[in-house]
Amino acid sequence: MGEPEHTDVVVIGMGPGGEYAAGALAEAGLHVTAAEDRLVGGECPYFGCVPSKMMIRAANLIAEARRVPGLAGSATVTPDWSPVALRVREEATDYWDDKVAADRFTGKGGHLVRGRATITGPGEVTVGDRVFRARRGIVINSGTEPAIPPIQGLAGTPYWTNREIIQAEQVPESMIVLGGGAIGAELAQVFARFGTAVTVVEALPRLVSFEEPEASALIERIFTAEGIKVCTDAPAERISHNGTQFSVHLGMSTLMAERLLVATGRRSDLAALGVAAVGLDASAHAIATDGWMRAADGVWAIGDVTGHGAFTHMSMYQADIVVRDILGQGGEPADYRAVPRVTFTDPEIGSVGLTSAQAAAAGLRVRTGLTQVPYSARGWIHKAGNDGFIKVIEDADRSVLVGATSAGPCGGEVLSALQVAIRAEVPVATLRNMPYAYPTFYRAIEDALKGLS
Ligand SMILES: Cc1cc2nc3c(=O)[nH]c(=O)nc-3n(C[C@H](O)[C@H](O)[C@H](O)COP(=O)(O)OP(=O)(O)OC[C@H]3O[C@@H](n4cnc5c(N)ncnc54)[C@H](O)[C@@H]3O)c2cc1C
Repeated sequence: MGEPEHTDVVVIGMGPGGEYAAGALAEAGLHVTAAEDRLVGGECPYFGCVPSKMMIRAANLIAEARRVPGLAGSATVTPDWSPVALRVREEATDYWDDKVAADRFTGKGGHLVRGRATITGPGEVTVGDRVFRARRGIVINSGTEPAIPPIQGLAGTPYWTNREIIQAEQVPESMIVLGGGAIGAELAQVFARFGTAVTVVEALPRLVSFEEPEASALIERIFTAEGIKVCTDAPAERISHNGTQFSVHLGMSTLMAERLLVATGRRSDLAALGVAAVGLDASAHAIATDGWMRAADGVWAIGDVTGHGAFTHMSMYQADIVVRDILGQGGEPADYRAVPRVTFTDPEIGSVGLTSAQAAAAGLRVRTGLTQVPYSARGWIHKAGNDGFIKVIEDADRSVLVGATSAGPCGGEVLSALQVAIRAEVPVATLRNMPYAYPTFYRAIEDALKGLS
């Protein structure tokens, strides 16, 4: 070990939030040392949001083209993955090269250290043979890894996680997707639209099980109509690979496919990170923080590792709070009442705040309103591809919305009005007493509000 190197702040992990916080603190004049083991920018630009949404954009174009007959003539669609794979390489990930992001950070005066960081004491971080002493503190933004379930036979097979599928240069003939959450559902639909025979295997009784039951039913109906096989209540018991094919044993039946995508959630290894050295619980699922993202004296945590939702917008939101806290700028602490999330399937499932089940479990007197998008003026005009619904959850005692789901074309965009209503606690009477632009998709919110009972 060399002599300890002194710095103001060590940022561990340069995910979206870490990158933002490290850059902002460096620009503010602090001596910032950022440790990154893989790629500056984290999962989102290289293996997550950005390339997956490029894939989704391409897959949705195919679906739209297939909707031309009956509405606009005829169209022959020949899916071709090569422009998608190229775009992921050239535009999204620079062939998985983070030079631009790394230079952006060092250009702000930051100090980038490549390698795996471990917290080795209060204010002390070790990367390889270098030891850093942070005068102000440590910001943890170590993110999450794909969680691999302990299914018999799975380890050692050439399964894909999000990291491999994002790099796919060809679409497989067949694929089993283990896990019907947001990542599994999005990628299942992409590859099915490009011609892969896809089966989604979900141990729970429904896909996207963290969403309203209506959202799960909608996605299962759409997937089935598009030829995706959906197996719910189907825990995989054993998995094998014979050199060319995967076999997934589900108790009474066995599925076979060329590829297996494991999308069964995310995990973080707090013990390996060394959090015990600053008095934190290394066996915990996530790092507990206060409203200022403080986890311990001189330790802040942001992003997936805090357990408030594995979203880029959460990581960035929390990073801004940490920057304000470290720079003594004040402002508001974190508020998680109106956290939005979008599953970018087609239809998109956007949701914010509590589901009806969560609101009831919280002891609220719940009223719900639901309207179907195809029955709205815009949905009817839209016709093919108009599936969706808007569901609003009211705390009837306070007459404010506490949750909402917006599923349908542009479901994630329609969500914005509902997010503002929930975050600002706009009285339902006010939401009812305003004109909604005709004929927009968001206008269906008015119908959902009328249906509150
Ligand atoms: C396929 C997929 C699609 C997604 N789509 C969306 C989406 O549409 N919208 C959305 O909001 N979110 C999406 N997400 C989630 C999103 O990618 C993450 O929430 C986001 O990257 C924020 O994570 P983070 O800031 O916690 O850190 P991460 O992005 O996970 O980055 C953490 C970084 O820390 C580094 N690191 C970890 N430990 C150490 C260590 N000890 N020393 C040094 N470096 C370390 C890692 O190498 C990594 O680069 C998606 C994720 C996946 C996998």
